[in-house]
Amino acid sequence: MELLGVIGNPISHSLSSVMHNQAFKKLGKEAIYVPMLVTTGKLKEAIAGAQALGFVGLNVTVPFKEQVIPYLTELTDQARATKSVNTIKFDGDQIIGHSTDGLGFEHALISELQMDLDKKNILLIGAGGAARAIVHQVLTHDCLLYIANRTVSRAEQIVNELSKAQSANVEVCSLDPSSLREIMDQIDIVVNTTSVGMEKTISETPIPLCLLEAKHTVIDIIYNPQESMLLKKARSKGCRVQNGIGMLVWQAAKAWEFWWGIHPPIDKMYETVKASLS
Ligand code: NAP
Repeated sequence: MELLGVIGNPISHSLSSVMHNQAFKKLGKEAIYVPMLVTTGKLKEAIAGAQALGFVGLNVTVPFKEQVIPYLTELTDQARATKSVNTIKFDGDQIIGHSTDGLGFEHALISELQMDLDKKNILLIGAGGAARAIVHQVLTHDCLLYIANRTVSRAEQIVNELSKAQSANVEVCSLDPSSLREIMDQIDIVVNTTSVGMEKTISETPIPLCLLEAKHTVIDIIYNPQESMLLKKARSKGCRVQNGIGMLVWQAAKAWEFWWGIHPPIDKMYETVKASLS
């Protein structure tokens, strides 16, 4: 039996175990995936413990995506670029860190909306961990990116960490509606990576809805609720919309490729996540 799991704190909300275990069942794969709560100060021991127990790999979630890096022996290009690890593979003595969040975002877009990122003008709202992964993925394409965040310095920090060539195609802009209005005409894709639209802000949107037009594709990486207020209103304006389930499923699919070089049953994963959320 192959062992895998996700580490985080908190971890009880994670949909990863049900998604992976249902996919194993569908394929008749002899593997089990467990959610594991790691307490503060015990991250190093958790990684060493999983290695000692013969785990194939781990996923890593909040708040450990950056903190885990010192305990790894190698990083993939995606992990190094984003300074974030959401997937670990144990390979002999090696502990290899990878980031599949950005890849998951792009593959969800291709698979659900048949859309690629080349030559697109993108407004990305937010500058947290998820935004960083998406920025790096988006910038592997020839596109123009605007980043708007409540705390402007966090957006500036993401841009400052980019190479000169990458940052040539990126601008930080204000979330102020009058500033956003000046660029909305050029925008093809709006991506919300903030948590506005979840929990206490469930009835809020990260930008005023009057800025959206039918020509915009609107992606909200929030998946709980499955249709955020932003997506609901964007859809009513005729925009093409996509929620965060695809990114969640495809980042998991990219982890399978990293662990085993195989593709999981994607449809089963979508079905499991949607059923768990509803
Ligand atoms: P994070 O690092 O904590 O970043 C949170 C972001 O939200 C920051 O840009 C923050 O702005 C902004 N924000 C929070 N509250 C706000 C408010 N009231 N008004 C305006 N901006 C606000 O979190 P994260 O890990 O990037 O995750 C962000 C969201 O993405 C969450 O909803 C998470 O569930 C979702 N997510 C989805 C997937 C997926 O697979 N679909 C993967 C990862 C994350 P400041 O910088 O100003 O604080």
